[in-house]
Amino acid sequence: MQDQYRRQIEYLRISITDRCNLRCKYCMPPEGVQWIPHESILTYEEISRVMRISTSLGFRRFRITGGEPLIRSGILEFLQNASQISGVEDLMLTTNGILLPDMAEDLKKAGVNRVNISLDTFDEDKFRELTRGGDIKKVFQGIHRSLEVGLHPVKLNVVVVRDFNSHELPRFMELAHDYPVHVRFIELMPIGISSDKRSDFVSIDEMKAILGLEGLKATRDIRGGGPAEYITSEGFKGSVGFISAISKHFCSTCNRIRLTPDGKLRLCLHSSNEVDFREVLRSNKSDDEVRDVFAQAIWNKPAEHHMNDQAWQDQRIMSQIGG
Ligand code: SAM
Ligand code: SF4
Repeated sequence: MQDQYRRQIEYLRISITDRCNLRCKYCMPPEGVQWIPHESILTYEEISRVMRISTSLGFRRFRITGGEPLIRSGILEFLQNASQISGVEDLMLTTNGILLPDMAEDLKKAGVNRVNISLDTFDEDKFRELTRGGDIKKVFQGIHRSLEVGLHPVKLNVVVVRDFNSHELPRFMELAHDYPVHVRFIELMPIGISSDKRSDFVSIDEMKAILGLEGLKATRDIRGGGPAEYITSEGFKGSVGFISAISKHFCSTCNRIRLTPDGKLRLCLHSSNEVDFREVLRSNKSDDEVRDVFAQAIWNKPAEHHMNDQAWQDQRIMSQIGG
């Protein structure tokens, strides 16, 4: 359906949990996170109902994320059911990859089309430090396994942090040359605990300069219709992409909304303006009435975000919104 700015909104990102088996430094504090109480987290039945209602409004693409979605019990059965909902054309998942070696095949069988895997460094020790304990070997195995079972295209999310991994960008580009993976360099966003570290931020233009790609013409993300710009060239099995939420707005073409684990409809990732949809789902409203609330919320999707404003700071951390 269209919002009031005539954007076609057809992509729902659903965070099914705020819990995670890692603690990435730019995403979560080591301890003291206020977990969402279990009773406030949407059940799989409630999430499936939202999916069904959204397909009746023209939504076709769904990404399951978190926190770490693969740690929520019952996820395979949920995905199996979700992939059968009429109108669901593309079911995708974003994961840190730790559980993928064991789960990739089952995900494919459950109807997941493709995965985005987060990997910010090639260095085992730095990975352990950044994620506070993660085993990078599992992620590499997870990437291989995903390619093997056909969760194509496999995309790698690389959040670029100055002096942490900025010098590894060329190596990621080599990976995209040698393997059919789509590497996406992401600008660090001032969300949650990363908000006070503006000096860590590396802009897309600077990333392109590091890679010697300044001036090269990029194409829009034909595979996902999202904010990424891709560059590929002869001999590359994959591609290199850039996601610039800060230095270049993509709000005018934004096609997505988010559902948080506790059932808030977040119309813009970077606006703390949320609609409490859990209340609506748990009232005894009919599907038609719920659909009206959903449609009204989309109609009111903000025109653009204000993340560049120095004063802007989100109340939630990324794992609670669903990146
Ligand atoms: N746990 C899964 C994962 O790591 O892929 C899914 C959820 S995670 C919140 C989704 C994405 O958000 C990851 O690629 C992560 O790197 C990214 N992310 C988290 N905090 C971020 C921040 N402050 N700025 C930019 N990206 C961030
Ligand atoms: Fe967990 Fe993903 Fe956040 Fe890392 S980025 S702490 S893996 S939710």
